Amino acid sequence: MAKKITGTTVLTGLLGSPVAHSISPLMHNEAFDALGLDYTYLCFDVGTDGLKTAVEGLRTMGARGWNLTMPDKNLMCELADKLSPASEISGAVNTVVNDNGVLTGYTTDGIGYMRAAKEAGFDLIGKTMTLMGAGGAATAILVQAALDGLKEIRVFNIKDAFYDRLEEIAEKLNARTDCKVTVHPLPDDEALRESIATSDILTNGTGVGMAPNTDACIIPDASFLRPDLIVSDVIYNPRQTKLLKMASEIGCPTFNGLYMLLFQGAAAFELWTGKEMPVDLIKEKYFQ
Ligand code: NAD
Repeated sequence: MAKKITGTTVLTGLLGSPVAHSISPLMHNEAFDALGLDYTYLCFDVGTDGLKTAVEGLRTMGARGWNLTMPDKNLMCELADKLSPASEISGAVNTVVNDNGVLTGYTTDGIGYMRAAKEAGFDLIGKTMTLMGAGGAATAILVQAALDGLKEIRVFNIKDAFYDRLEEIAEKLNARTDCKVTVHPLPDDEALRESIATSDILTNGTGVGMAPNTDACIIPDASFLRPDLIVSDVIYNPRQTKLLKMASEIGCPTFNGLYMLLFQGAAAFELWTGKEMPVDLIKEKYFQ
């Protein structure tokens, strides 16, 4: 049945560029329909230059909220009136809630990762993580995992533009949470091996291994792993990266980035509607 747009339909959507490939409209519109909510979700191809104008337009028009994708996640932080603790620390917003003209920025990618871990059967609270990466996805995981109560997170990244920002974020997390966060430059096989050997979970938060470069792997070889190590990857294309394949072959429990994507959307949906997304339905239709 065609979706009915009425005079009272509530607007949500996605800002970024490009956005045409996004799964978010399918997932949110399906969930709105399933719950009988008079909401709709649309994609707007808006780059950095147009972001401020678009945000003011959405605020004025009373849109309930929107998601941000690259390159707008950092700039949205400056345009919001209020920020969640995770957005304030990470400097990124992927979800905005508009309460009568007051814009609050949240970042739900890390929430998505933590829920995906739980869904896969892992309770990470009080555990030690070796986290590869310092970009958008890795930072979101780092911040949420520290806020949620991991005991220790050791972050490894090459000394690129992300590295200095990573040190600042680690400093904030060490001051504001009970999680011990340390930062390590790559390459350093010895430090990486030692960290993984004393961690409960290894997480790839980089795009290394993503299609089409599926032969790439963020760790040098399988000798860095052991069967009781949980191994996860933010990548969902392919579903099984070289890292996850290597880990599965030696018996490690693993999970990929697919449900992180689902649950970041579910968290945004709940912020806008106050209702739980029917995730089983959405999984069945779009996350196989
Ligand atoms: P980004 O550009 O913000 O960060 C890239 C990271 O990879 C940085 O830490 C960078 O230092 C590191 N890196 C790049 N090349 C490297 C190399 N050769 N060796 C080691 N490290 C290297 O990207 P992002 O937005 O964080 O995305 C990273 C991956 O996460 C992508 O595959 C993306 O599709 C995925 N992602 C998944 C979800 C999800 O919901 N599952 C959400 C966001 C991003």
